[in-house]
Amino acid sequence: MSKFFYNVAISIPLRQAFTYHSNQQIDLGTRVAVKFGSSTKLGIIIETLPNTEIKTKSIHMVLDDIPTFSNTELKIFRWASEYYLHPIGEVISSFLPTYLRQSKNTLDATPIKSIDSDLPDNLKFEKNLNAQQSKAVDFLKSLKGFMPTLLYGVTGSGKTEVYIRCIAKHLINNKSVLILAPEIALTPQLESRVKDQFGSLVGIYHSKMTPSKRYKAWRDFRNGNLKVMIGTRSAVMMTAPKLGLIIIDEEHDSSYKQQDGFKFSARDIAIKRAQMLKIPIILGSATPSLRTLKLVEEKKFKTIELSKRVTQKNPPKFSILDINEVKLVSGLAPHAIEAIAQTLSQNKQAMIFINRRGFAPQFVCSYCDWRAMCNSCDSSLVFHHQAERLICHRCDSAFGVPVICPNCSKEQLSFLGTGTEQLEDTLRELFPNASIHRMDRDSTKKAGSLENILSEIKNSETGILIGTQMLIKGHDFPNLELVVAVDVDQGITSLNASAIEEMGQQLIQVAGRAGRLDGHATVLVQSRYVNDQNLLQLKSGNYLNFASSLMQQRQSLNQPPYSFEATISASSSRAQNNIEMLTYAKRYIDVSKCILVGPIPAVQSKVRGSYQHHLVIQANTRTLLNKLLIKFSESLQADKNKILKKTRWSINIDPTDL
Ligand code: ADP
Ligand code: ZN
Ligand code: ZN
Repeated sequence: MSKFFYNVAISIPLRQAFTYHSNQQIDLGTRVAVKFGSSTKLGIIIETLPNTEIKTKSIHMVLDDIPTFSNTELKIFRWASEYYLHPIGEVISSFLPTYLRQSKNTLDATPIKSIDSDLPDNLKFEKNLNAQQSKAVDFLKSLKGFMPTLLYGVTGSGKTEVYIRCIAKHLINNKSVLILAPEIALTPQLESRVKDQFGSLVGIYHSKMTPSKRYKAWRDFRNGNLKVMIGTRSAVMMTAPKLGLIIIDEEHDSSYKQQDGFKFSARDIAIKRAQMLKIPIILGSATPSLRTLKLVEEKKFKTIELSKRVTQKNPPKFSILDINEVKLVSGLAPHAIEAIAQTLSQNKQAMIFINRRGFAPQFVCSYCDWRAMCNSCDSSLVFHHQAERLICHRCDSAFGVPVICPNCSKEQLSFLGTGTEQLEDTLRELFPNASIHRMDRDSTKKAGSLENILSEIKNSETGILIGTQMLIKGHDFPNLELVVAVDVDQGITSLNASAIEEMGQQLIQVAGRAGRLDGHATVLVQSRYVNDQNLLQLKSGNYLNFASSLMQQRQSLNQPPYSFEATISASSSRAQNNIEMLTYAKRYIDVSKCILVGPIPAVQSKVRGSYQHHLVIQANTRTLLNKLLIKFSESLQADKNKILKKTRWSINIDPTDL
């Protein structure tokens, strides 16, 4: 009997595929069950091999009649595995819905209804495009082949309508469209607009859905019953019979980067996928990432602009409020409180943007300086008034609130700083008649609560909204006339180069929620660094001014996007082990070709009981960085020194936090 040999990717943290045989021919991309050690594991066939004399085990079971992934998709997985230096089995498994990670389930992808049934011949659109939108649509519709394009549209310029027309074009041509969006659950308006237009052809895929709903969405996109998929980063490899277009909405958003396990960027994988499929990809944003802007500058990306708001109203004016010499009330300067009062007296809405939830970020003893810290992380515990708990925002551990200081037994405990809960209390005291809404992770935990808050905000003409970055994404608050940004200084003083970029994006985005109706809105930015160059650039309200000034700084310092970075992280329960391991492992990096820093503790140096240290590597080209890391990774795996066994190590390409 003839034997066929296959390389199988298995989801285990080993950086190789394993060879098995079978007496039946199996398509590439098919799910199989294989014996690995003493257990049975799920695998995907990724390669056929010529006959070999090596002793191999047989494939235990072929799970499906049809392959889960196509050859192109396997190629992308292989690319991602090399690019991110991550085990191929884990790469593939991150893009499988949980249901298909289990070998007891089978993939049934027969179409359940006839395709094309829901698209009327004569598509009607709800809105007529304005001239800028029409121009953008014409341009985007004319794209052929691989053609990454930045749709730079200021907030309120009507990007969604532009997407809708591009989607329609592809549906008419019987193609499918994949839309990536950050945190769909937080920004239901993209979903509702696309669903209004294309009805039952639209599917949704994100991590808040049950595994069975996610599997169904995955299957129905795969079999062509759903033609438009809106998903978060894990949707980036969802397969469709004929994918014609990928859209990345809010391409700058940091949630496209997975921060643990397989640390990929869905934005980057989407671009690679479009390249391999030779299809257009649209990256939409009012605040594009510096990386994208650099690619536009180098003419590797095209760009089209929506420079005006649909309403033709002026964007809000920025004003910087020096808080060095003023006494703050729950983080608010007296001038900001006056501005809120005035806004309310004009029957308009005011918004306070603050990126700290809870009541106060620190709980301290004023006698001995004791500070409440998490047992297993190096973070201060945040005092939550409503829950009456001290909570770690790293690991979510919650602790009771002590009455006397655990260190000196004095009754001198108090909180420091301001969070959303405290602002809410203070504003309720200051403005007892105002309707006040708070939107943060705590106030929106219950299913449906986010929708409730949003609709209450929209239905109340005047009032105060308090919120974290959750409040700034994509919402349209017509009556909002004043925004107060309370804690931007965190972004200005952070050691992470990406923090300032993110701060600028957040300010422009938060400003974008305001002044849509009458164009006299103001954004008050409270800061102690009123002469900060980047803050002054933001004052113009023009994101591109800010971005180009930041790009110049990056270029002169040879920082990303002008160089390419990776971190090699070690984590273990002993800091010393990490330092020894990284000091030893450094020998495998050729320092004549790059800049190497470390070992240094991570900014979050302890999380859930594990210490984190890393090496930072900076190279002048991406190819060089990749080469250095491949050599490093291979050498490390071949080295049997026992120092290496005492920590877990991983590589992070384009890290966003150091
Ligand atoms: P962006 O995503 O660029 O911030 P949106 O797509 O949310 O902007 O559009 C802003 C608002 O303008 C939405 O309420 C949308 O329905 C409306 N809008 C968009 N295009 C038009 C148009 N051509 N005519 C009228 N209203 C429009
Ligand atoms: Zn004390
Ligand atoms: Zn913790």
